[in-house]
Amino acid sequence: MQEKLQLLKDLQALDRDRHTLLEQRQKFLGEQGLLQGELDRIQAMVDSLTTEMNGLDEQRSELTEALTIEEGNITRSEERLPQIKTQKEYVAILKEVDMAKKLVKELTEQIGAKDSELSALGADKDEKDGELAGLSEAADAKRGEIDTELAELDGRLDTMGSQREELLEQLPVSLRKRYQLLLERRNGLAVVEAKGGACLGCHMHLPPQQFNSLYVVKDVQSCPHCNRLLYIEKPD
Ligand SMILES: [Zn+2]
Repeated sequence: MQEKLQLLKDLQALDRDRHTLLEQRQKFLGEQGLLQGELDRIQAMVDSLTTEMNGLDEQRSELTEALTIEEGNITRSEERLPQIKTQKEYVAILKEVDMAKKLVKELTEQIGAKDSELSALGADKDEKDGELAGLSEAADAKRGEIDTELAELDGRLDTMGSQREELLEQLPVSLRKRYQLLLERRNGLAVVEAKGGACLGCHMHLPPQQFNSLYVVKDVQSCPHCNRLLYIEKPD
């Protein structure tokens, strides 16, 4: 009987430590998630700027192409002028050239506007690239630290897992099940001390008869209020 209680106490102590480690593990994973989230956020901004710039580049190419065509038209029209025979034709060509020149002016202005936009976006992107590079470096360093911590934690958790299995195997199946169930339902605390007539798990008073019976253990007893398994530290 005493042996069973000792097993339960050992198991509980182990599970409490294990719980702390698992919480730490979650915390580390959470930190990693936050770092990644921040990196993803900036990367998304960079990506969106890149897409926008690509779109502008494309528009600029189309404008440049149109400009080249218009400039070609002007050259061709002007080359035709010396061969013109009638006044009417002459006026028509001059009008064509005039219109083409207006278009060239407009296109040049539009290209200039795209260039300004591109340069503003480029500056914005450079800034974000810089931010991302800085953050990546910091995040890599931090992630490296966290990975080391996690590896160490996982090693300890592995060892604890084996120790836990060994302890559990030594308990009768029914007690093992009770313990596991209580661990889940009672927030990781299944085995508690009874002291001063009370259960230290829920702090409720135990029936005096039950409390006294804990000194002459015959079976593993449960608190009637919280069902946790009770043990008593006997005075030396
Ligand atoms: Zn209790």
